[in-house]
Amino acid sequence: MPMPEPATVYFGSVQHGAKAAFASFAAKVDEVFRRLDLSTIDKKDKVAIKMHLGFRDGYQTVPVFFVRRIVKAIKERGAFPFVTDNPTSVYNAVARGYTQETCGCPIIPITGVKDGYVERVDAGLHGVESMDLAGVLRDADVLVDLTHVKGHNSCGFGGAIKNIAIGGYAANTRWKKYHTVYSHVPYWDPDKCTPEHAKRLVDSCPYNCIKYDEGRHSLTIVFDVCNQCMKCIRADEGVGCLDIRQEHFSAFQELMAVGAKIVLDTFDEDKRFFVSFLTEITALCDCWGFGQPCVVNDIGVLSSRDIVAIEQASLDLIAKEGLIEKNIPPFLRTNLDPHMDLHPFQRLHGPMKDPHIAVRYAEKLGLGTTEYELVEILRPEETLKMKPPEGISETEPSFF
Ligand code: SF4
Repeated sequence: MPMPEPATVYFGSVQHGAKAAFASFAAKVDEVFRRLDLSTIDKKDKVAIKMHLGFRDGYQTVPVFFVRRIVKAIKERGAFPFVTDNPTSVYNAVARGYTQETCGCPIIPITGVKDGYVERVDAGLHGVESMDLAGVLRDADVLVDLTHVKGHNSCGFGGAIKNIAIGGYAANTRWKKYHTVYSHVPYWDPDKCTPEHAKRLVDSCPYNCIKYDEGRHSLTIVFDVCNQCMKCIRADEGVGCLDIRQEHFSAFQELMAVGAKIVLDTFDEDKRFFVSFLTEITALCDCWGFGQPCVVNDIGVLSSRDIVAIEQASLDLIAKEGLIEKNIPPFLRTNLDPHMDLHPFQRLHGPMKDPHIAVRYAEKLGLGTTEYELVEILRPEETLKMKPPEGISETEPSFF
């Protein structure tokens, strides 16, 4: 079988080699977006810039400074860009600096003002029959999947796939389909478990993931915050009523790949653009609603026409950079054992929350390839050799 062609992923590092705007991160953001060949954006195309605009005090998202530049580049094609996200994040986006004036284009709730502008689509995976796809995404001609990359406690990693796979659906899909898909494989046998033993299991979990309702004799595990320490399984020895295994965690990521495919299938292949910011990389995702220490140094910005390639490149760059151990929040029971071959996000969220699962499943579904060529633009080594302009501190007219 012939090997697939590697996809191109453009990369601009946060590091710069000259004291000059031409070598700066802003210039690199402009360039990586331009390199995607914007000629396939036609005049009057409606361009959905899907972002996560954060939530409450969660401000570590793609800065509006860069959103505005991407909007400008799209407008130069004669197209009509708009930023979109879930209705709640749109409604209070002003608190985090996103407005029509600052972004340079409207901000539109992705599922309408009451989260009901959706199209019911078939999912057919792990007991999830259908999902409610955001109507605004379906209506758009072009997708710019503009992502802030960070860790995620449910699936290890929030990147370009998650931005559309979860962010492209109504709240009932996000919370009642994705966040319950773990239970497609039964994990507790009520007939083997007494109320006393169930209470022992509850007490064994350092994360308070296990809930027991004695009146209904019902035990549930909140897999979103389980880091697979397996203390509950040890507490279950000799009884054997509990089961925690890879399938429980893979289900969420596989459903994300399916959700992303459904979104991408509504766009022509040449109308899909992916831009990912590897900056302010936090342990938890943007929707927790608070600021967090950055657990990986700022790396840069990536762009590609291939969602699988940009995700693989993001994971590889983060793995190469490693964790800033002193910044890891103490409530996370991180696995820093150097003898275990784990991605930094697995160290934070547990070995079974391997962020590669969604990427490989997306590749299997035909969304792209994990084989990629990383093309770094404006490398610091190159710009170091370029002469910066004179009088660079304030060359524009001032108030004085
Ligand atoms: S494996 Fe998960 S549910 Fe069990 S004790 Fe550890 S964190 Fe809690």
